Amino acid sequence: MTLLKSRFEQVINQIHKAEKTCQREGEVRLLAVSKTKPADKVREACALGQREFGESYLQEALVKVQALADIDDIVWHFIGPIQSNKTRDIASHFHWVHSVDRLKIARRLNDQRPADLPPLNICLQVNISGEASKSGVSMDELEELVKAVSELPNLSLRGLMAIPARAENKEQQRIPLRALKQALDNLNKSLGLTMDTLSMGMTDDLEAAVEEGSTMVRIGTALFGART
Ligand SMILES: *Cc1c(COP(=O)(O)O)cnc(C)c1O
Repeated sequence: MTLLKSRFEQVINQIHKAEKTCQREGEVRLLAVSKTKPADKVREACALGQREFGESYLQEALVKVQALADIDDIVWHFIGPIQSNKTRDIASHFHWVHSVDRLKIARRLNDQRPADLPPLNICLQVNISGEASKSGVSMDELEELVKAVSELPNLSLRGLMAIPARAENKEQQRIPLRALKQALDNLNKSLGLTMDTLSMGMTDDLEAAVEEGSTMVRIGTALFGART
């Protein structure tokens, strides 16, 4: 068995186990974060059955999108910070964007989404730990952004994403994760929406994230090893 295969099996097992402890079997999708890893690694992961990949750096991602264009059911997720001059390529080449945190970027993605493609799936990134230096919309401004983005016709607002601050232990990890889940539920209720995606959980907080309601975990290191 290859190292990549055993790592995938380990992570998938970890997800299944966590789903089981909270009776959420089959509810969590694995997004394999392949940033900094070459296209052949992604192809190797495809051979193991993985189809959803997360990328943070546009130029690097576009090389891989092109290199793997023969795999027609591959799903590309953009999860990195977005500058205005990058929106056209993101809108053209990705299926999902998890890191939208302001209306200007959402409008550009909406306007630049090619007409022959289905709406672009969007998660809004929330600065859930309230860190001054971090990207993400603040909790205070979230509702207004959700309302505005949900009305853009070429975007499909699927849910919320967060990268919580580092925590000491599992109980500390739960606090922001639970807050994000609560925010999603509250917004769906108060605005009459059906957002179905909670993009949370990375290598270090996968279990807590699943137990707190994640529907998509974004895993890099545990699958592909440390980034150089
Ligand atoms: C790199 C990255 C990940 C993966 O993190 P790991 O700790 O390596 O699993 C997940 N989400 C985002 C937004 C990232 O940039």
